[in-house]
Amino acid sequence: MNAPLNITMPAEASQAPKAYKLLIDGKHVDARDGRTIERSSPGHGFAVSRYAQAGAEEVEAAVQAAHKAFEAGHWPRMKASERATVLLKAADLIETRLEEIARLDALESGKPIAQARGEIGGAVDIWRYAASLARTLSGESYANLGDAMLGVVLREPIGVVSIITPWNFPFLIVSQKLPFALAAGCTAVVKPSEMTSASTFVLGDILLEAGLPAGVVNILAGFGADVGAPVVSHPLVEMVSFTGSTRVGKMTMAAASNSLKKVSMELGGKNGQIVFPDADLKAAADAAVFGGFFNAGECCNAGSRLIVHAAIADDFLGAVKALAEKVRVGDPLDDRTKVGAMISADHMAKVAGYVIAAKTDGGNVYSGGGQRASNAGQYLDPTIVRGVTEDMAIAREEVFGPVLSVLTFETIEKALHIANNTPYGLSAGVWSASIDTCMSVARSVRSGTVWVNTFMEGYPELPFGGYKQSGLGRELGKRAVEDYTEEKTIQFHRGQRTGWWVG
Ligand code: NAD
Repeated sequence: MNAPLNITMPAEASQAPKAYKLLIDGKHVDARDGRTIERSSPGHGFAVSRYAQAGAEEVEAAVQAAHKAFEAGHWPRMKASERATVLLKAADLIETRLEEIARLDALESGKPIAQARGEIGGAVDIWRYAASLARTLSGESYANLGDAMLGVVLREPIGVVSIITPWNFPFLIVSQKLPFALAAGCTAVVKPSEMTSASTFVLGDILLEAGLPAGVVNILAGFGADVGAPVVSHPLVEMVSFTGSTRVGKMTMAAASNSLKKVSMELGGKNGQIVFPDADLKAAADAAVFGGFFNAGECCNAGSRLIVHAAIADDFLGAVKALAEKVRVGDPLDDRTKVGAMISADHMAKVAGYVIAAKTDGGNVYSGGGQRASNAGQYLDPTIVRGVTEDMAIAREEVFGPVLSVLTFETIEKALHIANNTPYGLSAGVWSASIDTCMSVARSVRSGTVWVNTFMEGYPELPFGGYKQSGLGRELGKRAVEDYTEEKTIQFHRGQRTGWWVG
């Protein structure tokens, strides 16, 4: 039995929650009806932030501001080099305020501060990468259509983009979308999660300081039904870039269809790590623990299914369990913490419910399993469930908590069957010393990313997104800016046009 956690209250606990106003047309404004949303730190249990809560009027004002900035503003028309300068300045300012932003994300989401610093550092890199893409975006030309014709394909910014983000990586995910939309010359209405909006508001201030014109980025805190849904169905919004659950993603796509908006969807995952007997088992065990418990398992990419060869299962799982028990669960603001708090009591109960159901269905808790008592906040121990079969809810649904389900196989065909036997297709991992095995798995798994002898690494240069119900489209990579553009074909005819149809 693990000892109860003793959480130290940070300085913020004795202060009033920090207030954030909406950002509309370059101005910081309260909601007209004065409503606010208060966010408590899930790791400490005190009110950390209070955001102005947008409603229908603010949605309309934000979309109109973004539309005006797109139709008549300088941003879509300026040289890409000038846009890149603003993005680079923003990256520098994010870097300067890295500690402050990381602390906000840790306080609001419960993630460990050391991990949050890594995410904000990663975001800085993405903003810089997007700046480079702004300058290399180009279209096509066709001089091979006969002497009288020159065909030119332009890439123009698509217009006003609605950006909707979840709570699990608040600053990182907005940074996977917004800099590319801006690089293309788009304007945006951004809706962060109602639980983790603070760092997105800081980003709004940073962008204004970096020289972004008023109205180009508008930020609304609020709930999905009051803000997300009306922005998505607004006729002046041309594109929806959504990251969140598959359930809400489907609703969002349906709403966006009213005016045939372009959609980009980054949704849930049920990712498998497949471990073969010839793998570097020490590295694989570490990756199994990292994949299962990083960000308390509240991660689209979590390696929540450990698919192990039966011949090594006992020894390998012994090693995984030993590592899992060493994972430090605790105060998100403690530099040594690896697993912080769960996002909410409701969510923790849902995660715990999956473990209870698995036990009823014949699985057994091999390690962890307990809700961790603490003087403040909500915590779960890293948990490993053995005896999981493919039909169990814990093997099929996105648990989104620090719970690793173990399934076993004897042949590569069976391993692949298990890996693919899910409606999701976000990512997968394979561990083997054999190039044949690694390539067979990598080629046959139906997912957007496959890690070979590593897990959950990310680089701005590499596209990221899902197969099947894990999403639609890709983020990052060299085409990330193109996603926020429309193609326009222009045909230039030269000389007299004669002998054509009835003329
Ligand atoms: P969620 O779907 O509940 O909410 C995501 C966002 O959508 C929030 O801002 C929410 O307010 C908003 N929203 C809710 N209802 C809406 C509606 N009707 N119209 C428009 N917007 C609406 O997801 P969550 O709980 O915040 O995040 C966890 C989920 O996100 C998990 O499923 C996870 O896998 C997924 N996720 C995916 C990726 C990826 O890159 N594939 C990354 C991170 C998280």
